[in-house]
Amino acid sequence: MLKGKTALVTGSTSGIGLGIAKALAGQGANIVLNGFGDAEGPKAEIAALGVKVEHHGADMSRAGDIEDMMKFAASRFGRVDVLVNNAGIQHVAKVEDFPVERWDAVIAINLSSAFHTTRLALPAMREANWGRIINIASAHGLVASAQKSAYVAAKHGIVGFTKSVALETATTGVTCNAICPGWVLTALVQKQIDDRSAREGISLAQAQNELLGEKQPSLQFTTVEQLAGLAVFMCSPAADQVRGVAWQVDGGWTAQ
Ligand code: NAD
Repeated sequence: MLKGKTALVTGSTSGIGLGIAKALAGQGANIVLNGFGDAEGPKAEIAALGVKVEHHGADMSRAGDIEDMMKFAASRFGRVDVLVNNAGIQHVAKVEDFPVERWDAVIAINLSSAFHTTRLALPAMREANWGRIINIASAHGLVASAQKSAYVAAKHGIVGFTKSVALETATTGVTCNAICPGWVLTALVQKQIDDRSAREGISLAQAQNELLGEKQPSLQFTTVEQLAGLAVFMCSPAADQVRGVAWQVDGGWTAQ
């Protein structure tokens, strides 16, 4: 379905981003990976699917790095057809204790980076009259939790940004949508399970059950593959008129 097209996925050296990059590669898209840590393993996994793959290590908190990455993608592949804004971090603290530097980092990486990639990707998408912008928001883009003020603000922000971009592109072949996962067992969530286990002196299994039980009625994690399947659908012709949605994949979290 995406043969000859290029997908750039931010924060795709692990977790949800890597899963989405693999699924888009499975549809034939060439891939630009981004993110910290080992890039060679993820690159090899994607290359094995028979597509071209590059990695750019831009720090999503820096507008200049993002500009370099978008120029790099254009120079390697011509343009970005599918943009997945996925990079994200978490910090848990009460508002009055929230380190100012962590607030700024969460807003920059989880929200402002999507503004920069989108403003730089859109001109070529408009010219081609085809494009897909998929923002990985969260259940926290729709409802809040205590001690996650920066994350909740950024994720609500990206849901609003998604709607604005969808309206600005509504008469074109470019769509912009958000995906709102519930708990997915990645490094980002494992840290919260580890912290809870240490804080409350309970086993990791118990901490995991409590985490799910508090928020996710299905009591099961959302999987990376389920999110990747929705991203592939959003790239399909069946989704041509899906515009500006914030689509929950959250085991019933936000139905409560
Ligand atoms: P993860 O920690 O497994 O992966 C995060 C990725 O982002 C990694 O590739 C990392 O290298 C990259 N990254 C982090 N900071 C970066 C920076 N400054 N510049 C560039 N890359 C950076 O996390 P994940 O769980 O896969 O999360 C991916 C997205 O999904 C995030 O936006 C997160 O908020 C969202 N999300 C996750 C869950 C969950 O339960 N895991 C739930 C809802 C939403």
